[in-house]
Amino acid sequence: MSPNQPQNEERLLIKGAYLMTQDEQLGDFVGDVLVADGRIVGIGRDLTDDRARTVDGTGSAVLPGFIDTHRHNWQGALRNLGPAWTYQEYRGQVQIGLGQHFEPRDVRVGNLAADLLSLDAGVTTVRDESHISNSPEHSDAAIAAHWESGIRAVFDHGWPSTEAEQWQFGSDRSHPDDIRRIREEVLSDDSARVTLNAMLRGPEMSTPAVAEQDIRLARELGLRISMHVGLGEWGAEQQSIRRLAETGLLASDMTFIHCCTSTDEELRMLAAHGASASVAGALEVFMPGLGQPATNRLLAAGVRPSLSVDTETIVSGDMFGVMRATLAYQQLIRAGAAGPMDRAPGLPTFDAADLLSFATIEGARAAGIDDRTGSLTPGKEADLIMIRLDHANTLPATDVAATIVAGGHAGNVDLVMVAGDVVKEHGVLRAGNAVFDEAAASRDRLFHAAGLRLPG
Ligand SMILES: [Zn+2]
Repeated sequence: MSPNQPQNEERLLIKGAYLMTQDEQLGDFVGDVLVADGRIVGIGRDLTDDRARTVDGTGSAVLPGFIDTHRHNWQGALRNLGPAWTYQEYRGQVQIGLGQHFEPRDVRVGNLAADLLSLDAGVTTVRDESHISNSPEHSDAAIAAHWESGIRAVFDHGWPSTEAEQWQFGSDRSHPDDIRRIREEVLSDDSARVTLNAMLRGPEMSTPAVAEQDIRLARELGLRISMHVGLGEWGAEQQSIRRLAETGLLASDMTFIHCCTSTDEELRMLAAHGASASVAGALEVFMPGLGQPATNRLLAAGVRPSLSVDTETIVSGDMFGVMRATLAYQQLIRAGAAGPMDRAPGLPTFDAADLLSFATIEGARAAGIDDRTGSLTPGKEADLIMIRLDHANTLPATDVAATIVAGGHAGNVDLVMVAGDVVKEHGVLRAGNAVFDEAAASRDRLFHAAGLRLPG
């Protein structure tokens, strides 16, 4: 079977759940969802289908799967190593120290570990920011893992982690040309479960000439672009969004990751050009060095952001933690204890329901896949999750959005479907945990190769 074909022809009818559709026309209500041929084919009250397997949704919420718009999946086997690291410590340990020693098999295992944690926690789509393009085989291994895991993945081809310092912050190296081969031979189908984008360094990490050349290459290949910007004091000096606007390169095919020290004017430029943003709320709060989450400043500029995990080496790979940390930072703003960029009075605020939309439909829009996922809209592919509201930590679920954001965790995620394929049911991941033995072996091999001691 080609990996592009649907894996699951099952008809499934979920009955009596609290549906949080993320579709403005449909809203939230208690009802039923019918899935067939990998798609949502019906949503409403009192649906029946003689051929469908019925799932009792009573006492549960059903929503579109979470969409993580920025994760370095290759680091999946290195998770939870440095929750107290600074940005410089993370760069030194992971990107510079360990990244150069990755073999293709390590990339496969890291990606699989990240994907399976994601699916277990209800993340059905991940935008894999893959700056581990050490060779074509590394990229092929990363992509193969996404096919294997069953997740929906936007594979953002990035630069190598060999000679990592030469590839960032003023780099004069052009984006690896292997992206052409991947586009032409590996990921040419933009409607498939795994698709291709370009993870570019832009004017914040490469010279202006290289940034422009890379952007033109991505557009020639028909690829959307992601770019890390507004990274600490360096990002504040570079003002890369403004520079992209001034050179005519800023456009709606771009997703800007972090934006922590991008100016308010730059965020308005981002909005005016229809570009999107990804806030890694947990990582930015936990790891000193980037600045603070720009969520409220983005809202002030007219941008509803998506959310992302970033690196599992520092923060948990689920969206519950990301939503909570993003909210925690907003509350610091409201308490007057925020960072220097968030002291303007009257910044707009968001609530739990907003966070669920940032983590679903806004993620789909940022990744350019909202025509097929991100809401429970009939006709879209069936990427959905069922979260139990009758567990000890969720009862009594007075306000469902608040319950999920304030109290939810992966253990409440009972059912997960990707394109109609059931990957988790009754709280159990179908793939099992075998990959995590491989992940431990990969981690040990990498630390040995780098001459580093395992922490702890
Ligand atoms: Zn990142």
